[in-house]
Amino acid sequence: MPLISLSDIHHTYSGTAQAVPALRGVSIDIDPGEFVAIIGPSGSGKSTLLNIIGTLEKPSQGRYLFDNRDVTTIPERDLARLRATRIGFVFQNFNLIDHLTVYQNIELGLRYRRDHLRGRRELVMEAMDRVGMGHRADHLPRQLSGGQQQRCAIARAIVGQPAIVLADEPTGNLDSRNAAQTLGILKELNDKGTTLIIVTHALSQADQASRTIEMHDGRIHLSSRRLS
Ligand code: ADP
Ligand code: ADP
Repeated sequence: MPLISLSDIHHTYSGTAQAVPALRGVSIDIDPGEFVAIIGPSGSGKSTLLNIIGTLEKPSQGRYLFDNRDVTTIPERDLARLRATRIGFVFQNFNLIDHLTVYQNIELGLRYRRDHLRGRRELVMEAMDRVGMGHRADHLPRQLSGGQQQRCAIARAIVGQPAIVLADEPTGNLDSRNAAQTLGILKELNDKGTTLIIVTHALSQADQASRTIEMHDGRIHLSSRRLS
């Protein structure tokens, strides 16, 4: 059974002068454990598609089943919980909180969990170690390089052990060395079973995915699976 099932999704942002549809009939099923790369020109709907998958945006039209639940009928409060417990987000600009330490930023990923303090500490430590940030627990984001900030953001995304990680241009602000390292960490997560969906401009990254989806004018233009 697919983890993600989108059928004929349309999306138009409201409140814009000329409402140009961002998505115009997207259908796709994504199975647990897949690594999907979404590519395509700027404005083709990649971020919109990712945000709908992440339930950050509700589609104007179409059916979305997440783990066989109809997302469009889930009230916002429950949706926030689903998002916080099942989905990890990684953004191009890291989205860390400036005045919180690495440890505290990562702990934010557990805000919907009721684990005991000790359990929480173990989860945060484990996530920090997985991204090689164990020795930076007390640093503030501004004391870190871009690559380190993104590793911290990945730790925040995975600390709650989500089923899926969504990353929008996760390496867009990184030099090639840090980009490769960041992608390596995301791939490692996928190798251990986490479903991974990234939006990327880098074809070298898309080549490493098990499936590539190319967007064009709000539609899936091409979808190809890697022969392994
Ligand atoms: P990307 O190509 O990586 O999606 P953009 O520069 O298009 O980056 O978008 C950056 C942010 O601005 C996103 O949060 C997106 O939702 C928002 N955005 C993009 N286009 C518009 C627009 N026409 N009006 C308002 N917000 C927009
Ligand atoms: P991509 O990620 O491929 O660059 P987006 O999904 O960001 O594409 O954008 C698709 C279309 O939707 C573009 O025309 C963009 O300007 C528009 N758009 C994106 N975000 C917003 C927003 N928050 N408000 C209004 N229009 C938006």
